[in-house]
Amino acid sequence: MSRSFQRFREVVEDRHRYAVEWKARGGGRVFGYMCTYVPEEILYAAGILPVRILGGHEPQDVVEPHIHSMYCPFSRDVLGQALKGRYDYLDGVTVGHTCIHIQQAFESWQFHTPASFSYLLYVPACLHSPHARSCFLEEVKIFKDALEEWLGHTIPPEKLERATEVYNRNRRLLHQLYEIRRQDDPPVSGSMAMEATLASMFMDKEEHSRLMEDALREIGRESNGRFPGMRLMLVGGENDDIEFVRLVESLGAAVVIDDLCTGSRYFWQEVVTGADPLAAIADRYIDAPPCPTKELEERRRLEHIAKLFSDYRAQGAILVHQKFCDPHQIDLPAIQAYFQERHIPTLHLEFDMTTPVGQFRTRIEAFLEMVQLEIL
Ligand code: SF4
Repeated sequence: MSRSFQRFREVVEDRHRYAVEWKARGGGRVFGYMCTYVPEEILYAAGILPVRILGGHEPQDVVEPHIHSMYCPFSRDVLGQALKGRYDYLDGVTVGHTCIHIQQAFESWQFHTPASFSYLLYVPACLHSPHARSCFLEEVKIFKDALEEWLGHTIPPEKLERATEVYNRNRRLLHQLYEIRRQDDPPVSGSMAMEATLASMFMDKEEHSRLMEDALREIGRESNGRFPGMRLMLVGGENDDIEFVRLVESLGAAVVIDDLCTGSRYFWQEVVTGADPLAAIADRYIDAPPCPTKELEERRRLEHIAKLFSDYRAQGAILVHQKFCDPHQIDLPAIQAYFQERHIPTLHLEFDMTTPVGQFRTRIEAFLEMVQLEIL
């Protein structure tokens, strides 16, 4: 494995150390954020390092008094991380309003381990509404005002423009990495791509982009020599389970594309710059490939998944969601129907991110045999 990918792995595995060392190096502040609807560019423009809050994949033994057992394992694991003090270094915590589960985790987090700045950013529930754009922009303005009051200074437009450039560059580089996976024999495995993408959520974007440039050069020099296997797509929500992707790929498949909020949905859409930098940033979150919590009747999400599946020439799809995740469960029938109508094999798995993924081995093996039969 090349040095850059090795570094991505280190950061993902030791994300807290990275943030603490970043803070010690420059004396900056670190904010945690939940879900993909927090406009990180505004935090970055204020000199803050935004880090995505994800679970620790640890068995839960501390959350029971604080969050109901019917909440998804992801939201429970996130809260568990806070209660265990893993995120004590954070100066602020923000969440974009998505599902009730993560909102409950956030509220309990605020109550038991309050950060100096806590903010729940309202995000319209129906992003294709004609009012969503103006509504979200107003909410983003209020968020920026609150942040400025806490900081004691304003965030000038030039800094927003600079942060937008930094973020867009990083998004383009991740796109390039994904583009390589369209090859017949992709030299980047699904687990490598997942590690690179997750590392972007934890690292200073400029540092991550420099590493990405090195990584893309290194990939160019590597010979393939990897059995491409069956080409699969992963579809779902909060899934940063690299072990799961490694398991699938160890059984003779290649995960070539995903629609995960911890994968392509994180970076797919750039900010389209315009006269008002704040409006441009807000628009990006309206136009990005949506999460199922953000669609009512219209299903932009399905079209997007179908296009990715076809562009990356996937041959089967694994649909994953966390146990008790209502938004993704509601989304599932339409996605399954879409694939079934086209005779595309799918495997539906319900995760509990706090338990090992080895339990899925037999079902994955059977699924891969089915995909193989479809291809022949
Ligand atoms: S996995 Fe589902 S229920 Fe849990 S936080 Fe994500 S969208 Fe909400």
